[in-house]
This record gives sequence, C-alpha cells and structure tokens, in this order.
Amino acid sequence: MSDERRTTDDPAATDDPAATDGSDAPPRPRVLVDAMCGSLARHLRICGYDAAYALDRGIEADGRLRAVADDEDRVLITRDRELAAATDDAVLVTELDVLDQLHEVAASGLPVELPAEPRRCGACNGRLEPVDEPPTDGRPTYVPDDIHPVWRCQDCDQWFWKGSHWDHVASRIETLSSTPCVADAAEDNGVGSSD
Ligand SMILES: [Zn+2]
Repeated sequence: MSDERRTTDDPAATDDPAATDGSDAPPRPRVLVDAMCGSLARHLRICGYDAAYALDRGIEADGRLRAVADDEDRVLITRDRELAAATDDAVLVTELDVLDQLHEVAASGLPVELPAEPRRCGACNGRLEPVDEPPTDGRPTYVPDDIHPVWRCQDCDQWFWKGSHWDHVASRIETLSSTPCVADAAEDNGVGSSD
C-alpha cells in the first residue's frame, strides 16, 4: 500500500512547534481524522492541530487507520464506534455538524481554541510561516494590499491572514464553552484566505 505522504506529516516531528502557540495554551496532540469528517479536520487545523485527514492520505481500511495513528503517534478521531472502541485513546464523534463535533472533541479533553497565530493550513495541513514585511513580489492578488501580518503555507503556497473567517470561527468556538451543544450550519474555508 502506498498511501502515505509524509511531506507535511513527518512522524519524526513529535516536538512540532506548531503544536503550541507560544502561550500558556495546552499543547495539541497530533490527530488523524477519519473519513467523513473533513470539515472537522479543517477546523482542528485552524485551531492549531497537526490534523491529518484520512481521505487526504488515501487511508480507508480500519486496520490502516489504526496503524498510521500508532506509527505517527496520532489520536484517532472517528465516527466509527467499533473502530473507536478498538483503538487506544480514540475520540468518538457522533454528531454531523462540525460545531457539535468540536464540542465532542473538547469534551474528550482536547483543547478547542484558536492559537495566537494561524499555524496550520486548513486546506492541506502544511505549516504556515509568517511572510516578511513588506510583502514580496510574490504576494498573490487575492491578498489585500493593506493586510498584515500574513502567513504562507509551506506546502501548498496558499496565503492566510486573520480575516473575517478567522473571526467567524473564533466566535463559533467561543460558544462551545457556554453552550451544551450547538447546531449550526458549517462554513469551513481556509482561514482568512479568499475562496
Ligand atoms: Zn497548504
């Protein structure tokens, strides 16, 4: 089976600086998000998680999921009850709406909060690096001229900033601490990037 791409998910990077945001916030474990939970994976990346997504990695079989989670020291997040029960430290999500799923993840003990700065590309899970100011000639046209700071994905080259989407996610996540379970429409494009 040749379903592993390790360009962005180097298993050796257990001390991944992206797992913390440089503050006193609790570190995020690396996670592997099962198929059918792509929106959850993107939201967890926005929350600073190194969140591998099964479909991105071409992983489908339960045994393979468990093996990758084990090999790469990732917490498996799945909607499959049997798989969750058979996997150490797995997090079972039962809801369909991403905000409800985030609530379940938070209830499992994993921190669900935005880091001080964007750390992970919501699209590909690559690490984001700050772009030096003033912006270089490579600034994409979709990045407003007056926006800074900005970050660039090291893997897919998409640029990010703390735009309205960041604020939107922040406001939604804030409700997790005050609301038992919130059903809401999901919207999960990249952080602050254009569509
Ligand atoms: Zn990317």
